[in-house]
Amino acid sequence: MSITENVLRIRAEMEKAAITAGRDPKEIRLCAATKMNNAATVREAIAAGVDCCGENRVQELTQKLSENAYEGAEVHFIGHLQTNKVRQVVGKVSLIHSIDSLRLLEAVSKEAARQGITQDILLEINIGNEDSKSGFSPEELPSILEAASHLPGIFVRGLMAIPPICQNSGDNNKFFQKMYQLSVDITTKKYDNVCSTVLSMGMSADYRDAILCGSTMVRIGTDIFGARNYAVTKP
Ligand SMILES: *Cc1c(COP(=O)(O)O)cnc(C)c1O
Repeated sequence: MSITENVLRIRAEMEKAAITAGRDPKEIRLCAATKMNNAATVREAIAAGVDCCGENRVQELTQKLSENAYEGAEVHFIGHLQTNKVRQVVGKVSLIHSIDSLRLLEAVSKEAARQGITQDILLEINIGNEDSKSGFSPEELPSILEAASHLPGIFVRGLMAIPPICQNSGDNNKFFQKMYQLSVDITTKKYDNVCSTVLSMGMSADYRDAILCGSTMVRIGTDIFGARNYAVTKP
């Protein structure tokens, strides 16, 4: 299967899930998780019609930006971001999905203010309460939103989650439903620089379920590009 065929198939599945859920398919965006794929492959995905590309690693982002790989689509940052690398990401991407600590939130705010820009961000929720994952707990969310509302240079567009690896279809529905509820709860409170409209959840194995539960952005790697070969050592 080619990248173009894969994107068309995924789009059809997304549309089917949206319609099943009684939602407008146009309100759900397809973000290609482009980690470990080179600039030429990224360009192919953009030509095939993905809405945006999401990078996990700062080094790959920087490399592909220098190659103009994302021309014609937005680029997002979706991986764990270290505070000492915010300069390489803030102002370079349209959305950072993975704000997972107050320290990182403050560092991004400071860098954006220094650049005189507003950086759109999502708050990452550790919805499965897993030790191996970063992110805020649902209980922490109100105080983080409160903190965010006083910080310059950032705009909170919504929430993101990476639930536990799912074995069977439907396994993650309880987490997706919790995330949807959190995103609805936010909109009942009014903060200056918070407008929760993005709910980034759903990957290759579970994006249909995520859409049924209210996702507005799915992040898909394997189903677009094929399995990643982690054994390959990069130059
Ligand atoms: C790799 C990655 C994805 C995509 O995962 P697939 O299972 O390959 O679709 C989505 N989100 C994040 C944060 C990722 O790192």
